[in-house]
Amino acid sequence: MRRNAGEPEFHQAVHEVMESLGRVVAKNPDYLEQALIERICEPERQIIFRIPWVDDQDKVQINRGFRVQFNSALGPYKGGMRFHPSVNLGIIKFLGFEQTFKNALTGLPIGGGKGGTDFDPKGKSDGEIMRFCQSLMIELHRYLGDQTDVPAGDIGVGGREIGYMFGQYKRLTNRYESGVFTGKAIAHGGSRARTEATGFGNTYFTKAMLETRQTSFDGKRVVVSGAGNVAIHTIEKVQSFGGTVIACSDSSGYIIDDAGIDLALLQEIKTIRRKRISEYARLRGDGVHFVPVGKGSVWDLRCDVAMPSATQNELTGKDAKSLVKNGVLAVGEGANMPCTPEAIRILREAGILFGPGKAANAGGVATSALEMQQNASRDRWSFEQTEQRLAQIMKRIHDRCAETADEYGAPGDYVLGANIAGFVRVAEAMRMLGVI
Ligand code: NDP
Repeated sequence: MRRNAGEPEFHQAVHEVMESLGRVVAKNPDYLEQALIERICEPERQIIFRIPWVDDQDKVQINRGFRVQFNSALGPYKGGMRFHPSVNLGIIKFLGFEQTFKNALTGLPIGGGKGGTDFDPKGKSDGEIMRFCQSLMIELHRYLGDQTDVPAGDIGVGGREIGYMFGQYKRLTNRYESGVFTGKAIAHGGSRARTEATGFGNTYFTKAMLETRQTSFDGKRVVVSGAGNVAIHTIEKVQSFGGTVIACSDSSGYIIDDAGIDLALLQEIKTIRRKRISEYARLRGDGVHFVPVGKGSVWDLRCDVAMPSATQNELTGKDAKSLVKNGVLAVGEGANMPCTPEAIRILREAGILFGPGKAANAGGVATSALEMQQNASRDRWSFEQTEQRLAQIMKRIHDRCAETADEYGAPGDYVLGANIAGFVRVAEAMRMLGVI
């Protein structure tokens, strides 16, 4: 604890996994004797650096950059970069810790890492974003490589930012090493369906949970939080499965559209015009409401399925109570750790199907691993082929979590199943490598 003082999100993530491990340790005390649990909680390497850049007014600005290379027992460190003013070491450590287990659950050869910066991309010009990404890479490039550490996007980092970072990496190293980033444009070796993969993947995972209760998305009312990459493609897939997404949000508030979100309009506002969510209500007109932040929660709306897809700790115990009261059937976490521990407890105790992020949102990183595979073989798969692989991987993750939960005497408990299955894969790989 003292070693990780002032890092509440990291403590929360570790605590949640530890709560599940009692049954594993009882079966296999060697994990304690070999200090495998302690070793898994300690990142292999933490890099913190200065990012100086010049804004459009010729003023020098300073931000702080992070890369936490958490665990490489299963393969190169793999995990996104987050650009958001709330970023600090504890947040990147919690994300890297979660990522290690998530990547293990995919069954693919990738270790866990995460990075980011407290730079706020909102309101910045394209030139400022580019100069910032170039300055960040001047330091970060030393630690990356297609066999070492492979970043991708996260909050505030999409195709544009990946392009600028990859471009600077190529200049600095004089190598066209496409496998060093994932989430690239198709022209630079990006994978089809990568942009969609996290949202699609969570929808496939949640569909598999619903099937265990002989039901589906068809005709269901669904609430999705966020309006970024994960949220938009969750909405897209849920609609294709016959669900109606009646609400989504950003940090300024949420909108309610009982007829179902107009996906094309939402995408135009968010990805092209880069405007606030209230713009959706203004343009869509009658019958659509905008509720500003602080005037209620998107989780107060009656829905059958809730898919939190914005940020950590966005769904509280109070929200979980409202969802349960309103008859929610399933909650699939698109974001990383969006439900507080109290919310998870309430949902689990009420018998709600609950897909934890490290399993439910693993489709993004799984498709990133497929991108690395395509880059290594200089191959390009079609959208349909890639999505089919994604669907299979998500079904496999679902089944592995469910089977593990059964094996450890907690049927239907995906939290326990995901934590144990992820832990055992990483721990066994570490054990074979000696004391590392
Ligand atoms: P984006 O930046 O594309 O979108 C994030 C969305 O969440 C925006 O609508 C944003 O609103 C909202 N949001 C962010 N922070 C807050 C906050 N503090 N309060 C309220 N709303 C907030 O990010 P992604 O969609 O890529 O990521 C969303 C979540 O999914 C994150 O937890 C991320 O770690 C996780 N994830 C992403 C993956 C990916 O492939 N992209 C893979 C696996 C997990 P605003 O614009 O107003 O800030």
